[in-house]
This record gives sequence, C-alpha cells and structure tokens, in this order.
Amino acid sequence: MAKATKTIRQSLSYPSHYADYFAENATLFNRVVAFYFDCLQAHEGILALNNKEALTALEKLTHATGANPHPIMPLTTLAPDIPAMFRRAAINAALGSARSFFSSLNNWRVRKEKYEARPARRGAKKPFRERPPVPPRTWNKSVPFYASQWKERRDHCILLKVWTGSCWSWLKVHTLARALPDGFQMGSPSLVHKGDRWWLHTPIEKKFEPPAKIVEQLMTDQTRICAVDLNLDQHLAVCSVQTVDGTILATSFIGNGPEIAGCRKKLLGRIARNRRKTGIIAEGEQDNADLWAKIRHVDEHIAHLLSARIVQFAREHQASILVFEHLGNLRPEKGTYSRRGNTKRAYWMKGRIFRYAKYKAWQVGIITSRVNPRNTSRECHRCHANVCRYQQGQPESGYAPGAALCFCPQCQMRGHADRNASLRIGQRLIERYKDPQKEKPHALARRAKRESKGSGVGISQDAKSKGRPSTDRARRGDHANGHGTAQEGMRRMGARPSDIAHQLRLHFE
Ligand SMILES: [Zn+2]
Repeated sequence: MAKATKTIRQSLSYPSHYADYFAENATLFNRVVAFYFDCLQAHEGILALNNKEALTALEKLTHATGANPHPIMPLTTLAPDIPAMFRRAAINAALGSARSFFSSLNNWRVRKEKYEARPARRGAKKPFRERPPVPPRTWNKSVPFYASQWKERRDHCILLKVWTGSCWSWLKVHTLARALPDGFQMGSPSLVHKGDRWWLHTPIEKKFEPPAKIVEQLMTDQTRICAVDLNLDQHLAVCSVQTVDGTILATSFIGNGPEIAGCRKKLLGRIARNRRKTGIIAEGEQDNADLWAKIRHVDEHIAHLLSARIVQFAREHQASILVFEHLGNLRPEKGTYSRRGNTKRAYWMKGRIFRYAKYKAWQVGIITSRVNPRNTSRECHRCHANVCRYQQGQPESGYAPGAALCFCPQCQMRGHADRNASLRIGQRLIERYKDPQKEKPHALARRAKRESKGSGVGISQDAKSKGRPSTDRARRGDHANGHGTAQEGMRRMGARPSDIAHQLRLHFE
C-alpha cells in the first residue's frame, strides 16, 4: 500500500490565559523528553530495539507498577501523575531524537576511524579535526496529543488535556480554517507555537493502491503524460498532455510571471532603499521583517496555487505521469540588489513548485519524474532539429533566449516556444525508457569524476570534453548577446537551463 500524508494546520481561538497554560504544558513535555533522552544515553542498548519494544523497556526503567514497584530511574522524581499517553508521546519524541543523534554520532565515528586508518601522505599526520555531534542542549518540541489526551473533536472545536502549571485540566479551544478532508485518517494533533499564537497541527494519512511504475506505464501507448515547462517570465508554467505514442492532447499556459516578478522586485527595492537609509543593520536581527515576510508569503502562496493548477490540469486530462526538467544551477547575475534577489527567488520558486506539485500529484496517484533539461527548448518536438526562436514581429532566424515563438526550418513547425519545450520534456521521458542510453548523459560525467578521484586514473581534458560539444556550442550561442541591458537580464531569467547544462550534470541527484 502506498500512502500520502499531509498536515492540516488550524489556527486556534482561545482565552488569552490559555496561552500560559499551553506554554506550561510544553515546558513539562520538553522536560520529560529530556529526561527520557538522558535515560537513552545511559542505556544506549535500548536503541537496538524497535520502537514498540523500546517503549516497553523505557517504561520498565522509569514507571512504577504493581509488577515493577521500584524502577531504576523513576519519572515521578520529575513530576507526579503524568498521564500515560503524555509520557508515551514524550518517549517517542525522545526515541526519535536519540536515534537521529546516535546515528550521526556513529557516522562521525566511522569517518574518524577511516581517517585514522589512512596512511599519512607526507610527514606527520594531522589529528582528526572534525568535532563530534553534541546531544541537544535545549528542547523545544511541540506537544502531540495522543488519543485520550484529546476528545470531542468537531469541525470547529476540540477539548485538550493540558498541564496548566498546577493541575491537569480539559481546555476547550476553537479551531479556525478548513475541516479535515474525507478519505484521510487522522493522526495525533499537536500544539505548535508559532509567532505569538498557538496552532493545532493534525497529520492526516491516506492509503491507496500504488500506481504502476513509470517503466510499466510507458509500455502502454495510451498512457498520458503531462509535461511541465517552468519559466520565470511570461507564463510561469506551460503544461502539455501527450500519449506515449505521441498524440498531443492538450496544452495549458498557467500563471502570470511578470506580475509576480514585478511585485517581488518592488518589495525588494523597498528593502534596499530602507537599508540605504539606515546604513547599519543590527546583527542577529531581521531588518524590514514585514517586507521580508510579505515576500515569503507571496512566493509560498503562488507556488501552492501554481502547483495545484498543474496537478488539476493533469487530472482533468487523465494523465498518470507528471514530468519536469531538472533545475539548472543559478547563474549569478549582475544588476541592482532587487534584480539579483528577484532572480534568485524566482529560481527558488521553480524548485518549490516542483516539490509542491510532486506531493500534490502523489495524493491523487500521479507519479512525478524529472528529465535532463539539456536543449529542451532548442529542439523541435516534431523532428528534433534545432529551432529558431524569435519575438513576434522579429525575423524568424537565430535564437533569442526567452523569446516567445519558435520556428523549425526543417519541418516548418511553428508555435509557442514554451509549449514546444514542454512537449520535448515529455518526449524525453519516453525516450529514456525506449532508449536508455540516450538519456542520462550525466552518468558518464559522474563516473569520470569518481574515477579521477578514487583510482587515480587521470582523464584527459580531451576525453572529458568529448561528450559535450553540443552543450558548449549551445552555451556560446546563448552568451553571444547575453550581456548588458536590463531587458537582457530579465530575459535571461527565463532562459532554459540548457545553457548551463555542463555544470548541471554533476549536480543531478
Ligand atoms: Zn521540426
């Protein structure tokens, strides 16, 4: 069974003194977590057990019962009458932290041993410098409410059992925001402190039959693939749906790039002006906090809207696979503070849209994949020859990066350049499985790198460059008129990552 999880975040409405109770409750919880973390440090062997057994073992160590009247490290020294489910939540939280801590400690030990086993290259060997990981010094975990710690959950309210600082009591809080969706199973809610408010986060989970693997799906000619070309300029996302045998079914242009980029750039410009006025920025303190928050929220909001639209489009056309390009490296850009910052954020946005679309697609049973971005916008989707790219009203020749239209001199294909790119992205996924040699050129580069490092086998410059003459040419093409003017800078934001494919290869996952 495959599963999809997400978290419903509800803001709460409560009398103001409840905030103190919640804080007391969280403090107690974190003390108990710290206590169990210490227990685990003292009894490291427990970590070898699975979670259920470890929980039993820890309770035996700390909790007095009729059969176990004198535990070794009684929890009652910390606080009397802690509810069992509160204790268990703390134990599980401590187990999680301890597992993560000890696994990084082990990794550190392994690295140290490896280093010490290696012979010195020249002269006396330096001692191993890397510091070991330290256990957490402070604890700031949100309190989960296991069953029996909460009750009477309705659409707009819930009762929580909370330590108020003097007693355990049931508090009624009102929840705002959307109700829990159908078809999902609810996990334990937790109280999360964010800003000056407390929120209720509820993880929900859906189980479903996992979709067939991409390889299997591509065996059928009728499988529909939705390919997405993400841009930073005109249309933020261009999606097209095609079948494996090549029938193009639909295209959709989503989003208005210039508006978003313009809004963000305006805010960044305002920050720059404010900074210039003040001159000094206080250390460790966020300047222009409101403006930054606004930028963050706008980006977050748009990434969610856009990814939701992409998945919706894929569903409408019964696509079962979603394809994106890998992201290129971000090329540093010259220009004002707001321009540089804007490009950077627009680039991050692409990654975010991919991540959001991926999890949203998975929830409706669509698999997401990524392909090599090299030349996706240069090749014609009909005959794979190089296309000309031009602006409306300009001559149909040459290649203007970021221009809207394209024309194939070989097969006379005319169309929107981003649509052409998205079709190529889809085709590339199909090609990968039909002809596995063709896709994944980066594997070679990776191997070359590893060999030259590990076995000491030198690889000549010649051999290295052999694999990528076309990319080099492509890059020169893009750079030819890629300097200077402001307009050019804006355009470059929309340039395909193809122009940086050579760096990219090494950064594939
Ligand atoms: Zn063509």
